[in-house]
Amino acid sequence: MTDPTRHLRSRRFVCAQCRLDPMAIPARDLPAAFVDSARRWRGFVETVLDHPGGADALATRPGSGTWSASEYAGHVRDVLTTTTRQVERILLATDPECDAVDLWAVVESGHYDALCARALMDDLSAAAFDLADLLGPIDAPQLARTGRVAGAPVSVETQVRLALHECRHHLDDARRIVEPARV
Ligand SMILES: [Zn+2]
Repeated sequence: MTDPTRHLRSRRFVCAQCRLDPMAIPARDLPAAFVDSARRWRGFVETVLDHPGGADALATRPGSGTWSASEYAGHVRDVLTTTTRQVERILLATDPECDAVDLWAVVESGHYDALCARALMDDLSAAAFDLADLLGPIDAPQLARTGRVAGAPVSVETQVRLALHECRHHLDDARRIVEPARV
């Protein structure tokens, strides 16, 4: 479970796994990109659930040390809600210290496998729409505003692009886990 966003911290790149270049997306398209990601997640989950054993496939870890598709979905939902909270805080305060939540630990202790996959998609979609709504009216100076996470400076734009990569990258993870099991 390596951190798929580690490269984003320093420079532009095309992710070797999911092929997304999060820095290449025009800022005006970011809200729609989150909505699109949520739609793709729901489409994937609904397709899996249409097959016998689909719910189990979503909830099963492929091996020790690798999350299940449901755990990745729960993580993406958490990334979206945390990003929204952090962006709201940065927009309202000057260089605020934001919550530094260990979202990986949250999944490890969260029993996300036991969640209803469709309810999880409702939550993920709602979180994506909330973030898209927040980003819709934001202008360039607001995207450049910064806060701190664990003492390190981070801009609204970086937070948002990191979150978008998480959405796309972990959907790719989920597909890789589930699709071989359905063959
Ligand atoms: Zn990626």
